Amino acid sequence: MARILAITNQKGGVGKTTTGVNLAASLAAVKQRVLLVDLDPQGNATMGSGIDKRSLKATVYHVLLGEATLAQVRVRATNGDKAGEYDVVPANRELAGAEVEMVDMEHRETRLKDAIAAHAGEYDFVLIDCPPALNLLTVNGLTAAHAVMIPMQCEYYALEGLSDLVQTVKKVRAHLNPGLEIEGLLRTMFDPRNTLAQQVSQQLLDHFGDKVYRTVIPRNIRLAEAPSHGLPVMHFDRTSKGAQAYIALAGEMLNRNNPVAAAL
Ligand code: ATP
Ligand code: MG
Repeated sequence: MARILAITNQKGGVGKTTTGVNLAASLAAVKQRVLLVDLDPQGNATMGSGIDKRSLKATVYHVLLGEATLAQVRVRATNGDKAGEYDVVPANRELAGAEVEMVDMEHRETRLKDAIAAHAGEYDFVLIDCPPALNLLTVNGLTAAHAVMIPMQCEYYALEGLSDLVQTVKKVRAHLNPGLEIEGLLRTMFDPRNTLAQQVSQQLLDHFGDKVYRTVIPRNIRLAEAPSHGLPVMHFDRTSKGAQAYIALAGEMLNRNNPVAAAL
């Protein structure tokens, strides 16, 4: 059965989508069956996976509204390297209307969960790229997930934003998804020469201990360039520090989810 992770942080531009796309490709490269769900009307995970968001007839929007099944909208992200392929449930700006249109619907918080449940046996990992907001879309992501992965930049206000997110996770846990865990905090766009970043990083380790991934994602220009080519960075420049970091993160995640393998 798939391990379902919501990649979330209500703060914008912290590396959620970059993490979703590159982790999907890195896990796929080591033979994991991966589904990446784009839950953001910006459609960045869709475009970053090489899928033109403007040409889509059906997207996650239609799945949430019950107008299409997940099987009808998913698209294969191909990149010339069979080993790194993964499936994408795409999104585009149409999704922005979903929140309003779902208000009066029954089970509006569990629509994504129900859609994924029908296909959970087909994947090892489902990664959900959430929008930068604590809205109904994000609640759908959190309700569908076993755990949340929180990418964050090590900045002054990062910890404050984190407490809002932890409160939301607690609310979802209390009302909608009792099993929801925090899978891990991921330090993104890290610059080791920045003293403040080092201090915030240390605070994170002090507060959250093992919940902080040991892998740190450095600030790396190749990570920012890859989406304009519609490719995960490992298929764009495999030797870059960014590609290596996400490959390492995939390894750390697999070890965490399979402690026996890690011990061998
Ligand atoms: P949003 O909240 O808008 O969805 P996000 O949290 O998904 O944003 P990204 O889109 O992944 O964040 O990243 C924001 C910008 O920073 C993008 O232009 C991306 O290419 C760039 N970026 C992300 N991670 C890195 C990194 N490690 N090094 C350099 N640039 C990065
Ligand atoms: Mg994003």
